[in-house]
Order: sequence, then C-alpha cells, then structure tokens
Amino acid sequence: MPAAVQVPFDRIHDPVVRRIGERVAAGERLESADGLALFRSGDLTGLGALADAVNRAKNGDVVTFASNQHINPTNICVLRKTCTFCGYARLPKEAGAYRYTLDQVLAEAAHAADGLTREFHIVGGLDMKAGLAYYAEMFRALKANFPHVHIKALTAVEIAHIARIEKMPWRDVLVALKEAGLDTMPGGGAETFSAAVRERISDKKLAGAEYIGVHRTAHELGIRSNCTMLYGHVETLEERLEHLQMLRDLQDETGGFLAYIPLAYHPDDNELGRELGRTGTATTGWDDLKQLAVGRLFLDNFQHVKSHWIMVTPFLSQVALHYGVNDLEGTVVREKIYHAVGAHTPQAMTLDEILRLIRGAGKTPAERDSFYRILRTEFAPDAEPAGVA
Ligand code: SF4
Repeated sequence: MPAAVQVPFDRIHDPVVRRIGERVAAGERLESADGLALFRSGDLTGLGALADAVNRAKNGDVVTFASNQHINPTNICVLRKTCTFCGYARLPKEAGAYRYTLDQVLAEAAHAADGLTREFHIVGGLDMKAGLAYYAEMFRALKANFPHVHIKALTAVEIAHIARIEKMPWRDVLVALKEAGLDTMPGGGAETFSAAVRERISDKKLAGAEYIGVHRTAHELGIRSNCTMLYGHVETLEERLEHLQMLRDLQDETGGFLAYIPLAYHPDDNELGRELGRTGTATTGWDDLKQLAVGRLFLDNFQHVKSHWIMVTPFLSQVALHYGVNDLEGTVVREKIYHAVGAHTPQAMTLDEILRLIRGAGKTPAERDSFYRILRTEFAPDAEPAGVA
C-alpha cells in the first residue's frame, strides 16, 4: 500500500494545478483533460512539486540506476526510408551498414567479463537476415558466457519483424526467445501511437495497437517490459495523452510494465529534422520536465519513471529527480542510436558521476537490478557498481 500523497499546496500557484492536486490527494485518477490542463499550465514548478509528492509516496527519496551495457547488433533496417526521425538505420549495401557476427557480439559483450555489468540492453534494426535463429543463438551464447547478466532485448517492433520473416505468431517468437535467454523487453519502438503521427514519421512501422498487443503477449508469458513515448516532433498534446492512456490501460490489464521512459526527439541527421527545419534540440527543458511530470501523474499504476539522460543531458535528468522521476539510465557502454541523430551527451557515465548527480539533488542513490530490486545503497568512495564475483 503506497503512502498517502502529501501535496505541497503552498508550492502550487496555478489554481488549475491545485484543483488537480486536491484530486490526487484524494486518490482520484486523472482524466485526459487533467493531463492536458497540466501540460498547458504555466506553473511548471507547481506541477513538479505535485509529481514529486506522488513519486515520494511511492519511492521515498530513493533514486535507482542499473549498471548496463548497450549492444546494437545490426543497423540494417527495412524501414530505413520510412522512419524519418531515425538516423541510425542503413540499407544492406549502404555505407556504414553492419551486422555483427556472434563473435563480434561476444567481443563487444566482453566488457561484462569484469562482473560489474548486470544487464545487456540489446536493440537494432529490422534486418531480414537477423531472424529467430540469429537472436536465439546470440542469447544462448551470452547466457553461457555471462550467466549473471540479465538480457533485456528486442523491442515490440523487432519481435513483430522476426515473427513476420519467420511466418510465426508473436507468441511463438517470444516463447522461443525466452527459452533462449530473453529476460525482459525494452520499450522502444512506441514512438507516438497516434495513426496520424505514424503516417508522418514512421509510415510502415508496427501500429500503436500492435505495439500494445506484443507487450500484452509478452506480459502473459511472464516477460515484463518497459514502455516509451517519443515526443517533441509533430505530435499534439492530445496525442501524447492518447498514448499515455493506452499505456495505462494495458498496465491496468497486465501490470507487466516495469517503467515508463519518455524519449525526447533529436532532429539532427535525420529526414524529419530537415523537413521540419530544425537542428540542435527539438525539445526544451520546460517540455522535457512536463513530459516526465505529467507521465508520473497520469500513469498512476506505474511504480517507476525513468529519465534518459542520453537524450536530455545528465543535468536536466538531475533536475527531473524533483519532477516525478525515480530512476536514471545506468552506466551505458557505447550508446549508438541517439548519437546517430545528434545527441551531444556523453556515451557513458561512471558510477561516481551518477552518484554525484543523485546526491546533488538531495536524493539517495541505489543500485538496482533489472526488476528494480534494490541491490545496495552504500557506496565506498570511488566504488564500482555491485558485481558478482
Ligand atoms: S527507428 Fe527502428 S525500425 Fe525505424 S528505421 Fe530506425 S532502426 Fe528501423
């Protein structure tokens, strides 16, 4: 039973946010209209105070992180020409196209041999030559070589792609991959669920309802997952709320989502950015904080909201710890996908840097595992993440 929400009304100046705060304090669920009103309010700090109060009732002042490693096995993607926001994908014969062999995956994973990495985060393109056997062999080999490392792999879009090329139902693909070592799924590929938005930015991609369908199937099989929303491109605020509503509905049904992770769109080096005439960052700090805080308040059935510092900078992620966020992206070895579209943030943070950010915000850092179980809250000076000897 979560603690009662102590809403700091003295820090909320907009009467609209105050009224919503009264409903939150009474344990009432927010409607889409409430979410819209929060997005439209100018009282950003009041919104943050409300989201922080809800987060504190659920998670206290603890902010978690995991020690993970990203592996992107292939950037070859059949949707290269139609996901206009993506700067990572290549066609098979295009310069820069790659598909790792198993040995290359294992070589990249070798960082985990130090026993400190606890999770592989594995995502890539929709490659016609990367089917079920490619990933099943990869997961088996990773588990054989790094049995202590959790495998969080393949977005709903990749699962549906494998199902299509193998002519199998999603369920059978998930069953086979689970048997090979898949532990949980990441939340990428959601973009914004609205059909109108998808028509403009990712015309051929798995529809929003299908993304939900793959996650539902995964949850039914005991494979928990994260979920995301790509925001800050052509979507309206109403479409953001529609997206959050679909996530909340599935969470009501299955309880299988571990965390909600909003992803800020980056306009550099992709077709959509050129079409929109944008460079640099598409979102603002104001928008990023609102996206996180409204997500925390609307998704009342989610325990965890994560800030992805690779996209919004470590500094904004630190501020976000007072806007409803209780989890930071971990120590990421080699992030390729967002750096392909112009992210200027570091590609990895050391443990000391993460601890400094969290403590600097007056919160208590805790290293967690992939299921958000706390591993430890005590860190020696210059500590490394908890490993397995
Ligand atoms: S976003 Fe994903 S599916 Fe779309 S082109 Fe890029 S890698 Fe392919």
